[in-house]
Amino acid sequence: MSSPTSDNPTPDAARSLNFIEQIVEADNQSGRWGLWPAGGAASTVACRTPSKPGDASHSISRAGKPRVRTRFPPEPNGYLHIGHAKSICLNHGLARRYDGVFNLRFDDTNPTKEEQEYVDSIIRDVRWLGGDFDPTTGPYAGGLYFASDYFRQMYDFAVELIKKGKAYVCHLSAEEVSRRRGTPQIPATSPDRDRPVEQSLRFFDEMRRGVHPDGSMTLRAKIDLASPNFNMRDPVMYRIVHEHHHNTGGDWCIYPMYDWAHGLEDSLEEITHSICTLEFENHRPLYDWFINAINEGRTDDGSGPWGRKIHHPQQIEFAKFRPNYTVLSKRNLLKMVQDKVVSGWDDPRMPTISALRRRGCTPEALRKLMEDVGVSKVESMIDLVRLENAVRDHLNKTAPRAMAVLRPLKVVIENWPEGKVDQLDYVINPEDLERSGESAKRKVPFSRVLYIEQDDFMENPPKKFFRLAPGNEVRLRWAYIIRCTGVTKDASGAITEVRCTYDPATRGGDIPLGPDGKPIRKVQGTIHWVSAEHAASAEIRLFDRLFKTEEPGSATGNWMDDLNPSSLEVVRAFIDPHVAQTARYHADRGEGDRFQFERLGYFCVDKDSSPGKLVLNRTVTLKDTWAKEAAKS
Ligand code: ATP
Ligand code: MG
Repeated sequence: MSSPTSDNPTPDAARSLNFIEQIVEADNQSGRWGLWPAGGAASTVACRTPSKPGDASHSISRAGKPRVRTRFPPEPNGYLHIGHAKSICLNHGLARRYDGVFNLRFDDTNPTKEEQEYVDSIIRDVRWLGGDFDPTTGPYAGGLYFASDYFRQMYDFAVELIKKGKAYVCHLSAEEVSRRRGTPQIPATSPDRDRPVEQSLRFFDEMRRGVHPDGSMTLRAKIDLASPNFNMRDPVMYRIVHEHHHNTGGDWCIYPMYDWAHGLEDSLEEITHSICTLEFENHRPLYDWFINAINEGRTDDGSGPWGRKIHHPQQIEFAKFRPNYTVLSKRNLLKMVQDKVVSGWDDPRMPTISALRRRGCTPEALRKLMEDVGVSKVESMIDLVRLENAVRDHLNKTAPRAMAVLRPLKVVIENWPEGKVDQLDYVINPEDLERSGESAKRKVPFSRVLYIEQDDFMENPPKKFFRLAPGNEVRLRWAYIIRCTGVTKDASGAITEVRCTYDPATRGGDIPLGPDGKPIRKVQGTIHWVSAEHAASAEIRLFDRLFKTEEPGSATGNWMDDLNPSSLEVVRAFIDPHVAQTARYHADRGEGDRFQFERLGYFCVDKDSSPGKLVLNRTVTLKDTWAKEAAKS
């Protein structure tokens, strides 16, 4: 059942199963969740993207295969971060591996913090990452859902629990409830829990109709005031909030709490494996209690007094993705946005998916990282260098090469005629095996005045400095060997230009061979350059980590204390004219073109670019500069 389909090879098929896959496979073996019916994975609840015959989701024939349905359930109270990427990859990956389906569901049960902007950004990010929930395009797509579309059903279930004597309206304020919650030895107290059913029904109806102000009463589950698990001490199911909701507007003024709502959302969508992070482990008894309470008096065939049983998914917890040198919680990220520590949710230094995209990270690299990190029950810190390596690996194969000079130093080739331009062959990407012959090359202009990087020249170099220095030879990438003959200085003694000669016999960078078939001399260093007359100017943004410490706040308790004050450097660079002519930002995809600037790293076009103004972000350097520095210190 887990055989990869031809359009979807699973490269991970060879590795051993993670603990969640083991659970899924055991369930599939035992038939726990039944089989997909003929006709596929249609939903019984309100789906914003219903599937039709001919959609991509119908390209997988599921009938008779074990049912696997997962979901990614974000609350639209912020932008998604790299931790959410883990959850998307995990849930979508399971659907893909087991020919199941994947739902995107907005867990939008708290009107005070949720906004349409967040809904839109989440949809964009999930799509970009490849968590395709849209049945028209995604073979494993189960659809787009909003928890708020089920408010009526949830309300009806709550009324049912009141009628069954399993829920009651409580007049205590939130402060009172917490004051009376007890200790592990002392049970909580709750004065209204034996209120007659009729009274609770009346109050609950009044709560819904807006008769009562915020905070004046709640609906609570009647479970166990002495439970060692405090989540079971008569948890609140509904509270009164008179606020506009982004989806339901003013229809409701009572809103369900997470524990009550979440299991119902999973149940209504017929999720089989409801995957969440470890901190929900001791909420699982409550998750199960609510569904069992609804199912009491219900039967499989619907003949019980309360009708047909509702679906009871299995909650499974795994360890969060926790990267170093950053904070993740949306609350903290929002604070950085509000305090203008960063330019916005998609500031390329942020750990959000939109920031990673803007910075130039590819979805392939993120997915590869998540696959490599795996799934665990034990939390551990993930070194972000692993993300950088995944990005390098992918861009190395896919990003066209070009040259740019970030900190320019003028070089004059004394024996090159004024006004002469040579169009040299430039290999677009030696790692890209798809390109061959002439299509693997383009032209790059060479002329008398060039720019090189300031630190590729030293007037008085130490031994083993293989770059340019008086008397030294160096190879200009894809161009010529040049020899430094001297420097020109201004009145203050600063070098204004480096004087060189070139060797015409070395066009393309090759050294002529002697009679023995070996190069007639040796040139160690190769440096990048741009032709001054042809180069375009661009703004380049260089990033460092946003935080100075691996675990921000670990020393002082305040993560803001560990912000890196110099995490952004902006330089005006000279770049290959070809890049200036061709590089684009694609607003429709929310992505800029990507390049490798040789020896400098991978770069991508930023959304701040406009005609005549090119802005590039450095995605990542070519090597892990942090590892080098750590080794030095
Ligand atoms: P945060 O606390 O960072 O704001 P959250 O858990 O409140 O995140 P939700 O929108 O509720 O965010 O999460 C949506 C899904 O993403 C949940 O299933 C949650 O378990 C999962 N998730 C959130 N953070 C991580 C993480 N760091 N690693 C893996 N999964 C995560
Ligand atoms: Mg949350």
